[in-house]
Amino acid sequence: MSIPPMTTVLPYPAGRVIPAASSALDIRRIRDDFPILRQKIHGKPLVYLDNAATTQKPNAVLDAIRKYYTADNANIHRAVHQLSERATRDYEAGRLTVQRFLGAAHSREIVFVRGATEGVNLVAASWGRTFLRPGDEIIVSTMEHHSNIVPWQLACEASGARLRVIPINDRGELLLDEYEKLLNDRTRLVAVTHLSNALGTINPVSRIIESAHARGAKVLLDAAQSASHLTIDVQELDCDFLVCSGHKLYGPTGIGVLYGKAELLEAMPPWQGGGDMIHTVSFNRTTYADLPNKFEAGTPDIAGVVGLAAALDYLSSVGIDRAAAHEDMLLAHATRRFEQIAGVRLVGTAEQKAAVLSFVVAEPVMSALDVGTKLDLEGIAVRTGHHCCQPLMDRFGLPGTARASFALYNTLAEVDALADSLTEIVHQATRRTRSLPVEATKEPCPAEMQLCGGTQATCPPHLEIEYAPAVAASPRAAGEELAEVFEFFDDWNDRYQYLIEMGDKLPKMPDAMKTECTRVHGCQSTVYLTARQKPGTADVLEFLADSDADLVRGLIGLLEHLYSGQKAADILAFDIEGYFAKLGLDQHLSMNRRNGLEAMLKRVRQHAAELAG
Ligand code: PMP
Repeated sequence: MSIPPMTTVLPYPAGRVIPAASSALDIRRIRDDFPILRQKIHGKPLVYLDNAATTQKPNAVLDAIRKYYTADNANIHRAVHQLSERATRDYEAGRLTVQRFLGAAHSREIVFVRGATEGVNLVAASWGRTFLRPGDEIIVSTMEHHSNIVPWQLACEASGARLRVIPINDRGELLLDEYEKLLNDRTRLVAVTHLSNALGTINPVSRIIESAHARGAKVLLDAAQSASHLTIDVQELDCDFLVCSGHKLYGPTGIGVLYGKAELLEAMPPWQGGGDMIHTVSFNRTTYADLPNKFEAGTPDIAGVVGLAAALDYLSSVGIDRAAAHEDMLLAHATRRFEQIAGVRLVGTAEQKAAVLSFVVAEPVMSALDVGTKLDLEGIAVRTGHHCCQPLMDRFGLPGTARASFALYNTLAEVDALADSLTEIVHQATRRTRSLPVEATKEPCPAEMQLCGGTQATCPPHLEIEYAPAVAASPRAAGEELAEVFEFFDDWNDRYQYLIEMGDKLPKMPDAMKTECTRVHGCQSTVYLTARQKPGTADVLEFLADSDADLVRGLIGLLEHLYSGQKAADILAFDIEGYFAKLGLDQHLSMNRRNGLEAMLKRVRQHAAELAG
C-alpha cells in the first residue's frame, strides 16, 4: 500500500493534520494499552496475528464501556431523566465520531448495525426489495467474503436479478477489463471489498466506483478490513453505501456501521420494524421515523457505540496513516522472511496489499489446520481455513490457507517468531514421510469404478481393497481398551500423537476413492470416508477414511478403532457421546474439530443405519 504524503489531512478529527507517516510508533507504549497481549499461551508469550478476524481492545475502549455501564446506563431517546439524557448524548456523540471517521456529509447517513454482515443484509433486503427487477444485474468479485455474496444471492432469488462475478488473476488482483465488460445497462449495483480479508489485496475502488456510476449503477464498499488500515473518506470515494465492523477496528463485537447516501437511505423502506423506528403507529397506518432511526428498530447496542467511538478516538490518536505505515513494514518483513522458507507459498501477491499474509505449506503438503495448530502450540495465533471466501479458495484450487494478519500493536519480533516457528514446522514435516491424500476430483466417482461409498452401504465388495479390521468384539470393548491406553499418557498432545500413529498404521484409503461423493463436508480440513458391508457378512461395517490434516487423521484413527469391522447394530447402539465425555475428549476439542468429528460420525452412523436396514 502506498504510504500517505507527509501531511495527510484525515477526515477525523475534522481538519486535524496528523504528523508525518514516518514518525515511528511507540510500540511498547501501544502494547501497554492492550492488556490481553500480556498473557502466555502454552507457556509462550502470546503472538496475536489473527487481527483480520478481530482486533484486540485497548484500555480506552474497555474503560469507556465500563464507565458507561457504571455511570450512565439507561435506554436512549424516550426519557427525560438524567441517565437517559446522558446515554442518548453518548450514543449520538458516537454517531458524530463515526461520521467524522468516515468523512460522511451528514450524521443521518450513519446507521448503527451489528456489523458489516448486517449492513450488507440491510441494503440487500431493503434497497434490493425496492429497486431490483427481474433481469437486473448485481456485480460482486471473486474475492468477496460470504457476507458480501450470500445476501446478494438472496436478493437475486427474491427479485429475479442475476449475480455477475469479477474474475481475478493469479496474484489476487481484480481483472478490471473484465469488470468493465460486465458493466451494462442492467447493472444496478456493484458490491466489492475495499481490502480482501483472505489475500490482503487493496482494490482500486475509486476507479470501480467511477465506472459503475458511469453506467448508472450504485456501489457498496465492504470496508470491514480496510477501515482499520486505510484512511476512508466516503465523500471523496463517492461510494453509495459502505459497511464496517467495530470489532475489527479495536472496538467491541456486536456493533458496526452502515453508511448510505442520504437520498438513497430516504428512498429505502425500513428493514426491521419495532420501537424507535416509527413516527406514529396506528392499526390503519404507521409512519416511519426520519433517518437514521428508520433503520434502527429496537434498543440499540448503546455500550457498543460508546466503545466504538472510544476505539475510533484511540485509532485517530495513534494516527491511521502511522499505523498503516507500521503494518506495511511488518508485512514487507514477513513477506521477505516467508519467501525464504522452502515449501511455503504465499497466496495473494497483489502489488497493492495491506496487513494480510495468506500462505500454504506446499512441500511437503501440510493442511492449514495442522499448521495453525502447531503454531498455536508456540503461542502464535493465526487463522486457518477458507476465511469465509470459499469461491476465492476454489479459484486458487485450495481448501484453505493459513493467514497471519497484522495490527498496530504487532512487532517485528513477532513476525520473526512466526517465520522461525513456521521454518521449524516445515522442517519437521519434511522429515516425516507419508503419502498424503491427493486433491479430489470434483466429479462424483464414475459408476463403472463402483467405488462409491459416499451414500450406499451396499457398494459391491472391493475385495482387492483392504479395510480397517475390528480390534475388539464390540465398539464398547474397543473403547475400553483405548481408554486404558490413554491413562498412560500425561496430556492430550501425546494422546493425539498416539491416535495419529495408530491411524497411520491402518489400511490407506486409495486415492481413487477420494471423490466428491466420499468427501465429508463440515470439517475444516479435507476429509474422505467410505464404507462397505464386510464381504461374507450380513451386518458388519468396515470403513476407510483419510484427511490432509494430522489431527483429523488422529480422530479418524479413533473412529476406525471403535467402529470399523463392527456390527452395524452395535455401532448404532454405542453411546459415543458418553464415551467421549468419559475420555475427556469433549473438553479438548476445539469447536471446529468437534464439528468435523460430528460430521464424520454422522457419516459412519448413516452407513451403519443403511446396513442395519
Ligand atoms: N467482509 C470482510 C472483508 C470481512 O473480513 C468480514 C469479517 N471477516 C466481514 C465482511 C464480515 O464482518 P462481520 O462478521 O463483523 O459482520
